[in-house]
Amino acid sequence: MLRTLITGGAGFLGSHLCDRLLDDGHKVICIDNYLTGSHDNIAHLIKHPRFRLIEHDVTEYISIDGPLDYVLHFASPASPIDYLRLPIQTLKVGALGTHNALGLTKAKNACFLLASTSEVYGDPTQHPQQENYWGNVNPVGLRGVYDEAKRFAEAMTMAYHRYHGLSTRIVRIFNTYGPRMRLHDGRALPTFMRQALCNEPITVHGTGEQTRSFTYVDDTIEGIVRLLYCDIDSPVNIGCCEEISILDFARKIIDMANSSSTIEHHPLPEDDPQSRQPDISLAQKLLDWNPIVDRDEGLRRTFSYVLDKINHSFMTHAPS
Ligand code: UDP
Repeated sequence: MLRTLITGGAGFLGSHLCDRLLDDGHKVICIDNYLTGSHDNIAHLIKHPRFRLIEHDVTEYISIDGPLDYVLHFASPASPIDYLRLPIQTLKVGALGTHNALGLTKAKNACFLLASTSEVYGDPTQHPQQENYWGNVNPVGLRGVYDEAKRFAEAMTMAYHRYHGLSTRIVRIFNTYGPRMRLHDGRALPTFMRQALCNEPITVHGTGEQTRSFTYVDDTIEGIVRLLYCDIDSPVNIGCCEEISILDFARKIIDMANSSSTIEHHPLPEDDPQSRQPDISLAQKLLDWNPIVDRDEGLRRTFSYVLDKINHSFMTHAPS
């Protein structure tokens, strides 16, 4: 039976990966220190006979008994307000955490997968972004702590691959959304949904002309798992090609929620990328992967999750 370790396993993507790999028959060991992850995301797995949870900070030495087949390194703050609030932890988990996870993978003679990001392209001058584009990142800007941590993590992964012959994968994940996102993680999608459902103003940064390409979590997970099972050591983009401006996106969310929210413009954060759209030809060719969840359907499923969360927080905070 395959034995797999997921760092950041209690996070948004990490917890969906735990579910998926358990479904695929793996034994799953989840490591998290709950800096941005949440026990709620994996509470339903605690009694699963093939699931094990370890509370640990992966910037410290990682000790695991027994063999491992795969190590998936997903631990990291990943939303802008988190990595702005936790700049040093973000750099440490990308650097020291990746080094520890790679060292463990080598000791176990396992296969390593790094969760990288479209942020390695920074504010891109190539559009759409292909894997061979080197990016346009400001190393000393506020977002640099995340972008450079992930760029270092990619370089470290390739060094272990080349120098130690380790079997490695690098997935560059574009904006992903779906159930288990934190309602207050500051990202556009959960923020807009929460604001629309509460009929509060939608906070659009800048003019809202900047674009993003949003991928539903099930599609992202499918892409990651396909990459894991293939023998491809160069980075692969996983993301949806359907690009939308943040202003249009805000209008769409208001519309879908049938909300009376207005749009309120706020200052654009420093180094906020102007555009982002993946070129996914490589994933299509090598992994036979395409996003298949229609945007409206993905948004509907996420709305229903956000609504549940809002209702739950009303009930738990209601005066008795
Ligand atoms: N954004 C916004 N209002 C918000 C939160 C985010 O207009 O309340 C913008 C943000 O400045 C960026 C885009 O939406 O241009 C996507 O932001 P997100 O935090 O979701 O992810 P990013 O792709 O920037 O990492």
